[in-house]
Amino acid sequence: MSIELNDPALPTPRWHTLSVDEALDNLHSDADRGISNQEVSNRLAKYGANELIEKAGRSPLQIFIDQFTNIMLIMLMAVAVVSAILDIRDREFPKDAIAITVIVLLNGILGYAQESNAEKALAALKRLSSPRVKVVRGGNIIEVNGKELVPGDVMFLEAGVQVAADGRLLEAQNLQIRESALTGEAESVNKNPNLTLELDASLGDRHNCVYQGTEVIQGRAKVLVTKTGMQTELGKIATLIQDVETDDTPLQQRMTQLGNVLVSGSLILVALVVGIGMLNKGNFADLLKTSLSMAVAVVPEGLPAVVTVTLALGTQRMVKRHALIRRLPAVETLGSVTTICSDKTGTLTQNKMVVQNIRTAQHSLKITGEGYAPTGKFLSDTSAIEVQNFPEVQQLLMSCIFCNDAILQQKDGEWIIIGDPTEGALLVLSGKGGCDAAEWQHRMPRYAEVPFSSERKRMSVLVQGEMGGYVMFCKGSPELTLECCTHIQIGDQVRAIAADQRQQVLEQNNQLAADGLRVLGFAYRNIANLPENGITEADESNLTWVGLVGMFDAPRPEVREAVKQCRQAGIRPVMITGDHQLTAKAIAENLGIAQAGDRVITGKELELMDAQALDQAVIDVSVYARVSPEHKLRIVQSLQRQHQFVAMTGDGVNDAPALKQADIGIAMGITGTDVSKEASDMILLDDNFATIVAATEEGRVVYTNIRRFIKYILGSNIGEVITIAVAPFIGLTVPLIPLQILWMNLVTDGLPALALAVEPAEPNVMKRPPFDPRESIFARGMGSYMIRVGIILAVITICLMVWSESYTTSNFDGIYKPERWTTMVFTTLCLAQMGHAIAIRSNTQLMIELNPMTNPYVWGSVIMTTVLQLLLIYVEPLRNFFGTHLISPTELAVCVGFSSLMFVWIELEKLVIRWWAWKGQR
Ligand code: ATP
Repeated sequence: MSIELNDPALPTPRWHTLSVDEALDNLHSDADRGISNQEVSNRLAKYGANELIEKAGRSPLQIFIDQFTNIMLIMLMAVAVVSAILDIRDREFPKDAIAITVIVLLNGILGYAQESNAEKALAALKRLSSPRVKVVRGGNIIEVNGKELVPGDVMFLEAGVQVAADGRLLEAQNLQIRESALTGEAESVNKNPNLTLELDASLGDRHNCVYQGTEVIQGRAKVLVTKTGMQTELGKIATLIQDVETDDTPLQQRMTQLGNVLVSGSLILVALVVGIGMLNKGNFADLLKTSLSMAVAVVPEGLPAVVTVTLALGTQRMVKRHALIRRLPAVETLGSVTTICSDKTGTLTQNKMVVQNIRTAQHSLKITGEGYAPTGKFLSDTSAIEVQNFPEVQQLLMSCIFCNDAILQQKDGEWIIIGDPTEGALLVLSGKGGCDAAEWQHRMPRYAEVPFSSERKRMSVLVQGEMGGYVMFCKGSPELTLECCTHIQIGDQVRAIAADQRQQVLEQNNQLAADGLRVLGFAYRNIANLPENGITEADESNLTWVGLVGMFDAPRPEVREAVKQCRQAGIRPVMITGDHQLTAKAIAENLGIAQAGDRVITGKELELMDAQALDQAVIDVSVYARVSPEHKLRIVQSLQRQHQFVAMTGDGVNDAPALKQADIGIAMGITGTDVSKEASDMILLDDNFATIVAATEEGRVVYTNIRRFIKYILGSNIGEVITIAVAPFIGLTVPLIPLQILWMNLVTDGLPALALAVEPAEPNVMKRPPFDPRESIFARGMGSYMIRVGIILAVITICLMVWSESYTTSNFDGIYKPERWTTMVFTTLCLAQMGHAIAIRSNTQLMIELNPMTNPYVWGSVIMTTVLQLLLIYVEPLRNFFGTHLISPTELAVCVGFSSLMFVWIELEKLVIRWWAWKGQR
């Protein structure tokens, strides 16, 4: 009797105690056909989707409370308390305190909305990268989303895959799984489907089962899914769920530090003003009020929110360009990349292989046909041949069929490949030769295999021979496969291979590779008896050489332009491939990554180089061929020692260390293994090199925009502080109350700053060298700009203050109050910042040279903020609340006149800088 899964009334079967057949019976499944689609729907309805319920992240309340742990807001709240005490003591309504509290709350709500949106966006990104799983359903092999797995499904595992559900092994070849996510054990475990274990076997000892979240390090397997979703072992300890990480970016960390510095600075300022004032016998309460205004003015309250929003918007723009950010710091640091190390196959090329040539001992043939349709001719010179009459070719096609894990299928009239395109191309080739792969694979079933790995660069299988006995077929890198051969097939004869025949094979290989073809060598061996423990690498010897296959993998058309863009942007593209050096060189030259005559370093040469020799080489060499994943790690480390900021792509399970070491680790979304994705900072959804360049451009835009609005906001703060500080020295009272300063910092500065965050790329963004990622945010003149602009803003405002104070105190009547000069100061500061926002959109181009429609938000925010500012003056309740006074239209015009000087100044600065540059060029 089968046991109902997940039925609380019945004991759950201990899958590790059951044999393969018992497990299949239990779930009414079939090892070859799986379950039907109808049954999948039923079980999906019954057991639910294969999803882990998200680790209880921060609760909404926690997110809200976290908003108030920001040191700047804590200081504001302290200001509110002090100001309330002062007002109550003076029997005044504590308006400032209430307003500050409202603003702090509003800021908290805004921050809450932004953060929960950002968390939602990251969760959506995580869903985008959820793994696909190969399963057999109703006899058909298909790929489904990991979420759609149900108990009873039969799924396939291969190296690099992260296991998507718990399961009982049905078949396995050399399967090794790293279960550290579950057991904490770093060593990988060998698995075996033929075991049945005792009930009390611990999780780490259940070698006939696999568990969700663990990683296939080597080998392949067929697995019966037994548990999904929260029923899995991982689900039971759901805290181990991997997250899209949301570490603070270096810039966010520096912003926090800056916040601390500013808050401490403002506290010192408060102490100084009060201390010196008291020494001069000033009124304590007045002094405290002045210093509180200054404290509020120093702190850029709006800044943290704008930084977060900008980074979040950056990830969204990147995803539109097919780059999925997994770690937020990557958004900002991408702009600093100096070297992009890229795989060749699939990233620089299309990974759509078509076999064009084959070479055997006696024949050199061209193959016609396009795409994956198995129709085409085998041409010797220009005449078509019948492959049945050519035993060498026939044997080659057999090798292509057996040494193959791909599936060639027709879907909606179109031929598609499931699996490795290299192997798919070999099935297409055998189809063109009239061989039915499925039929042959059925007639001569596979018994064992040594799987392909990027280190070994070959794969072997053992199949049952037609005439009894067994045949081992091997395919892989021609040089390495040839080394395992002692014989060669000539016609239907097998002869010992002579030195000149070896030489001839290597020359054929070089000729094909020099044409940019990816070349695979094929060999085989008859074995009388089935080896007891399957086959191992040691059995890949005494092979008979059959021939070579050369396949074309066209470069991606957009890559050439992307490489050019990289060069203009001071970024060096480097190709690191497992392929032959001549193939690599031909493609690299075609794409502009290398020039004719450039040096290519092979994996073998690299092994002989010590760190010092490699450090010297990496600066010039742009093509590395026949490398293994561990070489990638050495290359990245060496480049980093040369102070390069490295982005590195990878797809295989063993690429993970190099991806982690790189400054930006990039995994392939389509062909990448789950392990490589897990180790990466960014995933290319389309596997395309051009996407890396696009993401780099976005990274630069984000960084420039962040610097732009920091300049904008802090420049304004400096202006405010100087104005407030100078007022008492020229015999005036403090012109701005804390509420007005908050209004400026959060609204009239905050809104345009947000708009500046979406400023599109400047035309030269990819025409200048990258900036040093370790530089201070204030580097390259930003600090001096802020101080300069702050002083200009203060000078303009103070001039207006001096004039307006004497004018308004001597010209007043029933409508216009004498102290309205403070409102003129307030308005001038706000409007000057509007001019600043319009001018700061570009560091080099004048406002009239910029198309306003490329960032309508800046204009929108300027208009909106100006209207709001006018409402504060001309709507009575608002006027009362914000402590402003009515000013006449003429006085408003004076404010506009003074504030526009700010705009004029910044535009003039640009002209002067241009003039300098022009003079320097002459
Ligand atoms: P890149 O690292 O740029 O993606 P690559 O795909 O050529 O390049 P690998 O996948 O490591 O790198 O392949 C290295 C070599 O191994 C290839 O040049 C080829 O000769 C051989 N090879 C590739 N795929 C297979 C396979 N499925 N079976 C046997 N040999 C293979």
